[in-house]
Amino acid sequence: MSNSNVLQIRKIIFDNFNEIDLRFSNDEIYEFLKKTDTFDKSQTIDDLESDFKKIENDGLVRCIAQNFTTQWFKIFDDIEKIPCTSCNTDAYLGKEESRICPNSDCNATL
Ligand SMILES: [Zn+2]
Repeated sequence: MSNSNVLQIRKIIFDNFNEIDLRFSNDEIYEFLKKTDTFDKSQTIDDLESDFKKIENDGLVRCIAQNFTTQWFKIFDDIEKIPCTSCNTDAYLGKEESRICPNSDCNATL
């Protein structure tokens, strides 16, 4: 799946950092990713830069600080889990995000 990292990152934020006052880093998310079976562990934190950029551009998170390769984020809004009946996966979307399935192979309206 072409954007599986982005989908996994969305789920990790939902499961662990779904609080608007909480700050979390790309390094913390990377640690969770490495524990995910489907994650290609040859990928370094640098390889994920575009994936973090994507969730920022999509309006899920904002970057609040950066120190070398470490980026700190906060979510904009509570994240909701919405079942997508088109691709049979759960979509994790911030409340203000467009109701479009973030799976790039699907993109169904939810
Ligand atoms: Zn879908």
